[in-house]
Amino acid sequence: MIGVVAATAAGRSAAAALEAAWPGEVRSFTGGKASAALREAWGTCDAIVSFLAVGATVRVLAPLLGHKTTDPAVVCVDEGLRHAVAVLGGHHGANLLARRLSGVLGCEPVVTTASDGAGITPLDSYGADLGFTVHNPELLARVGAAVLSGEPVTIEGADGWPLPALPSNVVREHPGASAGILVTDRAEPARSRRDRLVYRPPSLVVGVGSARGVTAAEVGELIDGTLADAGLAPASVRCLATVDVKAGEQGILDAAEARGWEVVTFPADVLARVEVPNPSEVVRAEVGTPSVAEAAALHAARGLGRGAELVAEKRKSAAATAAVARLRPKGRLGLVGIGPGARDLLTPRAEAVLRRSSVVVGLDQYVEQVRDLLRPGTRVMASGLGREEERARAAVEEAESGRAVALIGSGDAGVYAMASPALEFASSGIEVEGVPGITAALAASALLGAPLGHDHAAISLSDLHTPWEVIERRVRAAAEGDFAVCFYNPRSRARDWQLPAALEILSAHRPPDTPVGLVRDASRPGESVTLTTLAEVDPAMADMVTVVVVGSSRSRTVAGRFITPRGYRWA
Ligand code: SAH
Repeated sequence: MIGVVAATAAGRSAAAALEAAWPGEVRSFTGGKASAALREAWGTCDAIVSFLAVGATVRVLAPLLGHKTTDPAVVCVDEGLRHAVAVLGGHHGANLLARRLSGVLGCEPVVTTASDGAGITPLDSYGADLGFTVHNPELLARVGAAVLSGEPVTIEGADGWPLPALPSNVVREHPGASAGILVTDRAEPARSRRDRLVYRPPSLVVGVGSARGVTAAEVGELIDGTLADAGLAPASVRCLATVDVKAGEQGILDAAEARGWEVVTFPADVLARVEVPNPSEVVRAEVGTPSVAEAAALHAARGLGRGAELVAEKRKSAAATAAVARLRPKGRLGLVGIGPGARDLLTPRAEAVLRRSSVVVGLDQYVEQVRDLLRPGTRVMASGLGREEERARAAVEEAESGRAVALIGSGDAGVYAMASPALEFASSGIEVEGVPGITAALAASALLGAPLGHDHAAISLSDLHTPWEVIERRVRAAAEGDFAVCFYNPRSRARDWQLPAALEILSAHRPPDTPVGLVRDASRPGESVTLTTLAEVDPAMADMVTVVVVGSSRSRTVAGRFITPRGYRWA
């Protein structure tokens, strides 16, 4: 919940804009005394947007400050909505919130935390969204400073986790490194000459079975002993898994709760199909599966990752069994639309996913468009036109090996672009996040007026991947259906007759004064907008960076603007 505190009319109207933009996420504190409102927001919200001066905000909150990991993030926005200043909790939400605010209010985000200034991934939130915890936070400042200052820093164990990029001075091995980063679920990391910041990844699942009425103390002792003997860190346990019939077994529930773990359960017949090293016929006779602890651990871990292995086989106490599985984490594939060109038409979410990825794949010119947003150390796989399939495959392969990948496309990545070929190759072993972008038709439409005010169709005139007969059939259908039509890929040097042919088909079904808009390089340098009619249009004006919008029979031009009336005004 984001608390918004405002004391002036300007602040209150900005607060209302935020409520409208982020429904359900915002709580306004706009009545009464501002200091009291701010204190109340502090006590009840995860983050605060304060439309009070930075000084006033700091004076009220200073006595309430606790720790940065638990305090709400605070961003102050000035009365003129010029700046969103991340004041408290920069790496715990305030920097991101400042950027999100800029998307809604148009203000400039002001971020002062060192690593964000340099664009470098901050260590205090490294992997936090994956569930990483820091084992030895006392080293954060030292190792963080080494990363920032460009000293050699080693890293181990991060491979296979979809983490954001770290700069190039963070390397696997370096004889002169005095600081290091280690990602491990091993309880006692190997000793090292250097100071190593240790992260605990959420990689383990503890499987438990028991007789009815087992005590929490017995279950707890067995789990702790199993983890300790296998040399595994309890902080890396993600959840406790068991069979459905144990969903109400108090001893198991209490032992899990005491350790802060969630409990997941599975039907006996599902567990019966899991291959395990130590099945038992006695158990099968009792619960319908030859294994509970091993099978539940493996099955839960497989469901959470892209595979799993047993790292501690079944151990028994008088009334319980326990086993531990380690999962192989799923990689991530972001399918990111970067918009038509202008930076302010790239969404804050697209920016966040780009900054969250360690590999960015795309056409060179699009990668160049966003290069300044990428974190130092991001691996860029850019290639020229026409290598679409290769790019899509490369992106998927990187994600399947556990990395965080962004596959970018101009406009929307799913519109005549890379998302569909990529998803054709992708298995269920990766997480896919689609980030919508403003597609050319919408960027062009906004420049022309409102040509898409009623039903419309998008048609690509490129016959490289689609036979012309198919394209022609669709143009004809759109003509007969009286759709407004956006032509993508309208014309290239080698394909110069398709657009005239398509326009001719449309002309047979709509009046000669039907508006036609040609928008070239929408929102890019050199943008040009031409509004003409079906009778007068010169197809030679279009090229591969143009989108052509043809109105329906109802479209018209009003005051120089292309309009397609909405249905309810239909005569
Ligand atoms: N994924 C892109 C479309 C790729 S197909 C999107 O969603 O916009 C490429 C075609 O899109 C170009 O030939 C052109 O017709 C159109 N296009 C893309 N960007 C454009 C822009 N900024 N201005 C005008 N047309 C554009």
